[in-house]
Formats: sequence, structure tokens, C-alpha cells
Amino acid sequence: MSPRILFAAPEAQWPLWRPHLLAAFAGTGLDVALTDDPAGPWTFDYVIYAPGGAVRDFTPFTRLKAVQSLWAGVERIVTNATLTVPLCRMVDPGLTRGMVEWVVAHVMRYHVGTDLHVLGQDGVWRNGIVPPLAPDRVVAVLGLGELGRAVAAALVALGFDVVGWSRAPREIAGIRTFAGEAGLLDALREAEIVVTLLPATPDTERLIDARRLAALPAGARLVNPGRGSLLDDTALLEALDSGHLAHATLDVFRAEPLPPDHPFWAHPRVTVTPHIAADTRPETASLIVAENVRRGETGEPFLHVVDRSRGY
Ligand code: NAP
Repeated sequence: MSPRILFAAPEAQWPLWRPHLLAAFAGTGLDVALTDDPAGPWTFDYVIYAPGGAVRDFTPFTRLKAVQSLWAGVERIVTNATLTVPLCRMVDPGLTRGMVEWVVAHVMRYHVGTDLHVLGQDGVWRNGIVPPLAPDRVVAVLGLGELGRAVAAALVALGFDVVGWSRAPREIAGIRTFAGEAGLLDALREAEIVVTLLPATPDTERLIDARRLAALPAGARLVNPGRGSLLDDTALLEALDSGHLAHATLDVFRAEPLPPDHPFWAHPRVTVTPHIAADTRPETASLIVAENVRRGETGEPFLHVVDRSRGY
């Protein structure tokens, strides 16, 4: 019998994904029944999930084999107690490339001092300010998973002195790595630019707090495309107000959309972007979805299964 697959994401996503998913499934040779109509939940073999869709209770999905998240970050589904089958998160080459491009753009903005010349245009000829070259600039990448590793590799290719931090120790060519609670301050101590690419878990809640911000060299900059929960917002604002942190570029927030009266919007040392660092791209990600369904149908292990005890 053809596997039945429910697309359970916000309504506007269905027309964007449907043609790419159908093409990707055709490429696997599988004959699938794909729909966005959740009627008859007990008939579905797989759910393609994104937050904000209709499905919250997986209890009636009695024949489900797996849930494939369209998002890399799974904090909004990983704690769902009604979900008992494997949960696969999205690792999409298009998303990874998008994240690399976005992070490199914002790191380079800080590195070459773009704002000094782009903002203002006030008739003052500000030459003679020579920024250090990349090998003399330390950039810390917190989180060395799919995205952090790709970002670190791109920064190394540009010549930056990259330090990385993860939960378990990792050896990665070209970067100095630190791990665990004890390694975090070592990773931060020299970092003039910090990029946070960690998942939202109980362990990473308010990870970047007053003590860790104080460990950064004066004038450091922060780029956060990970999750809003990684930051202690009050401590961040205090560090920005004092000038110890020179600037922060924030893509993700505790509440999204970021409320119009939130102090981040008006702060002269904050750039807000609206959770656009890296979208999942239907063209490339549909191939990952189809491959995981193919694996489920042939009894092969699923790709990118979330470890629920770690929360990512
Ligand atoms: P991933 O492959 O699961 O990697 C997560 C990394 O974080 C791993 O290196 C992991 O360490 C590390 N980590 C987790 N908990 C830690 C802890 N308590 N202490 C130290 N390190 C810890 O995730 P990914 O695909 O790279 O994605 C990272 C995050 O980016 C996602 O969870 C999501 O929140 C965010 N994201 C944002 C956007 C956007 O548009 N803004 C788009 C996609 C993703 P180990 O290596 O030791 O396991």
C-alpha cells in the first residue's frame, strides 16, 4: 500500500512545498499519497511538520512511523509527550548555505567596519582607519553542529582565527575547539566576534549571561542566529549600554515577531533581523524529506533523528 503522508505546516506553506515534495518522491520511485488534509489521522504513515500547523496531538496517529520536521530547531515539538515515534530534524544543504552566507555577511560587516562608511555619509572623509586582517581577528562559533561547522569552515577559508565550542569535545581542522561548561569561558576570552549557533534546550537557556558577556574582550560583537533563549536579554542590554559589547545582530527572539516596543528595536547598538538568517528551502529540503520516507519504507535508519534526552 502507498505510504500516506500528511503535510502539517502553516497553510501558506502547502502550495510552496507541494510541487517540490511530489517531484522528490517521484525521484525515489515511491508511490505516495501526499495531502494537507488531516482527516483520518490513523491512516497516516508519516507527518511532515512545522510549528504553527494544525497538528498538536499525535495520539490519534496510531500507524505513524516518523515525523519529519521542516525546521532545524525542534524545541517546539521535541517535548510533545504525544509524539512517541522517531522525530527527524531538518538538515538541508540549502538552509546550511543560507546560514553560512548570512553569518559571513554580518561577521564581515563588523570585521571591515562597514557601518563607519555606509551610515552617515556626512561629508567627513574618514580614511586612515585600518582594520586588522582576518588572521588577526578571533571569531568564536558556539555550536559545532551542522550549521556551526559549516560557518566555521567558511570563516577559516576567509582566514579568520576561529575558535569553536560544543557540548562534547570535537576536533575540527583549522579551528581551536573547546567543550563543555569549563571550555566556554576559554572560547569567549579572546573572541572579538561571537556567533551563537546552539539549539534551544534547558541547558542552553540564558547561556550568554552577564558573567559570559564580561569574559569577552571590551568592544566585542555578537551575532545570534541560533535562538533567542540563548541570551539573557537584560544582561545583553546592560553590556550594550555600557559599551563593553559594541554591537549585537539578533535574528531570533524569545517572542517572535519581536514586539514593536521591545528595546532591541530602538537600541543604537542592536540590529534586528526577523528570523531570516536561513530558511528551509523546499527545492533542496524536499529531497531530504523524500529520502527519509524512502528509508522508512525500506527499513533503513532515518537520517537526523533527534535525541530527545538532549533536546536536539
Ligand atoms: P545541531 O547540528 O544539532 O548542532 C548543535 C550544536 O550545538 C552541536 O555542536 C552541539 O554540541 C551544540 N550544543 C548543544 N547543546 C549544547 C550545550 N549545552 N553546550 C555546548 N554545546 C551544545 O544543530 P544545527 O543544525 O547546527 O542548528 C543549530 C541551531 O540553529 C538550531 O537548533 C536552530 O535553533 C538554529 N537555526 C536558526 C535558523 C535561523 O534562521 N535563524 C535556521 C536554522 C537553524 P555537540 O556537537 O557536542 O552535540
